[in-house]
Amino acid sequence: MNESVNQLCRNCGLCCDSALFADVELRAGDDAGRLQRLGLTLFQKTKTRPAFSQPCACFDGKLCRIYAERPQRCGLFECGLLKKVDAQEMSVPAALEKIAAAKTQADAVRGLLRSLGQQDERVPLTHRYAAVMRAPIDLADENSAERRGELMLAVGDLMQRLERDFLR
Ligand code: SF4
Ligand code: SF4
Repeated sequence: MNESVNQLCRNCGLCCDSALFADVELRAGDDAGRLQRLGLTLFQKTKTRPAFSQPCACFDGKLCRIYAERPQRCGLFECGLLKKVDAQEMSVPAALEKIAAAKTQADAVRGLLRSLGQQDERVPLTHRYAAVMRAPIDLADENSAERRGELMLAVGDLMQRLERDFLR
């Protein structure tokens, strides 16, 4: 594990907890059987491509439990912050600040999802959001329309931040 991964990733986890990705596809060469034995639950995303859903079963809340044996896509992914820190274009404290801000926003989204009935933390964030938006507005709960509006804004802000800081 290189130094920037050690410093940033153990304080982040956004690429494993479903904030950034709803699922991860395996690549040719990944040993699906071995990954399942290590704890990943695979589903068939396309005819030829198995994938696993996030939040990842191998994420321990801080780091990857199967780091040395993680799927290829996980090993290849470097977020924008890691790239910038490695290229010495950003300091570690500045990157940690951006991680903390993104995590606060993701937690706010989770809180709103729970308040709108989406309580299953094993389901990817975007799927929970889609389920809320598909559901009819609960007229018996006078705050539900307002919370749905707050959720839309919070998700929009989070996506913007993730796109800007992590996916470039
Ligand atoms: S999003 Fe970046 S900093 Fe966060 S865990 Fe993933 S690679 Fe590490
Ligand atoms: S296998 Fe490891 S690196 Fe890949 S998503 Fe799961 S916890 Fe993250």
